[in-house]
Amino acid sequence: MFNSLDLLSSQKPKTVTGEAERVKCLIIGSGPAGYTAAIYAARANLNPVMFEGLQPGGQLTTTTEVENFPGYPNGITGPELMEDLKKQAARFGTDIRWGIATATDLSSRPFKITIDSAKLIEAEVLIIATGATAQYLGLSDEQKYAGGGVSACATCDGFFYRKKDVAVVGGGDTAAEEAIYLAGLCNKVYMIVRRDELRASKVMQDRVINTPNIEVLWKHQTKGIFGEGVVEGAELYKNKGEANEEIVKIKIDGFFLAIGHKPNSEIFSHYLELDEVGYIKTIPGTSKTNVPGVFACGDVQDPHYRQAITAAGSGCMAAIDAERFISEHI
Ligand SMILES: Cc1cc2nc3c(=O)[nH]c(=O)nc-3n(C[C@H](O)[C@H](O)[C@H](O)COP(=O)(O)OP(=O)(O)OC[C@H]3O[C@@H](n4cnc5c(N)ncnc54)[C@H](O)[C@@H]3O)c2cc1C
Repeated sequence: MFNSLDLLSSQKPKTVTGEAERVKCLIIGSGPAGYTAAIYAARANLNPVMFEGLQPGGQLTTTTEVENFPGYPNGITGPELMEDLKKQAARFGTDIRWGIATATDLSSRPFKITIDSAKLIEAEVLIIATGATAQYLGLSDEQKYAGGGVSACATCDGFFYRKKDVAVVGGGDTAAEEAIYLAGLCNKVYMIVRRDELRASKVMQDRVINTPNIEVLWKHQTKGIFGEGVVEGAELYKNKGEANEEIVKIKIDGFFLAIGHKPNSEIFSHYLELDEVGYIKTIPGTSKTNVPGVFACGDVQDPHYRQAITAAGSGCMAAIDAERFISEHI
């Protein structure tokens, strides 16, 4: 039985022992990166086995319209796009299975991967496509208005708010980037910043301050979101916890979170080099990690772009890198 504590523990989760199933190419994760890797790996005769994880189809299954994935001139819903990718991967023989990787031993080949704390897989090459999870404030309103004005991706959803008023939560570089991006599309952008300064780099701070349609709301925190079915505004604390605390309301149509992402890399952290946030480091221009034979693709190794098409592109790279590794070493 899968034990979620395995994933949360800072201790190295134990791989199970006993009889193992041997596979040539194991893919962990079934988002755009994993499925694209599967399509390429299957067509290259790597007989890929994929474990889908807790969220079959990945992050896009939580969104409605995807308008920026090439090849769909009229847009497509996230679940439909992922169903198409799954069918394409299955068509070439990918063995797609339900299961969560709960522990790994990447100290030598074949790599040992435990599935659901119970089953042991030994893989000649491993492709990691486990994605990254956007951080939310933890307000129930974020769930209530998901798909109705709450978003964690300005590049994905900003277009829907052209000429409208929106808010961006956060004070770091990502929040500054998202606010500047949205300022190019929207009428007005509020930046909701907890402190009386931005954590963003000086260059980004200057760009924010010099963008006329961005208004920084210093020392503000979100209390809640309101609206009839969709976001119509937010209630904010100003100077929370201080004598002059007050509650203010802003009228907005979109509420963008930009307070960080958490890469799903914990179970690899004892073997792979990660950056300070937890993104898997790859050799620039490749999907290669510091362990030969282990490749990473998609959001789990991408702190910058985090788009379906870049995830898919890097999934293709991972499969090609894996195929070359096998032909050279195995
Ligand atoms: C609401 C929303 C809307 C978005 N809209 C767009 C858009 O319009 N256009 C766009 O280009 N991008 C959009 N994005 C971003 C896009 O979804 C991501 O960039 C993309 O999905 C990343 O793909 P991925 O394959 O790297 O990872 P993910 O899609 O995150 O998939 C990760 C996969 O790994 C699996 N997994 C994780 N841990 C394990 C484990 N231990 N064992 C087994 N499996 C595991 C999960 O189950 C999942 O299947 C949106 C994101 C969100 C959240």
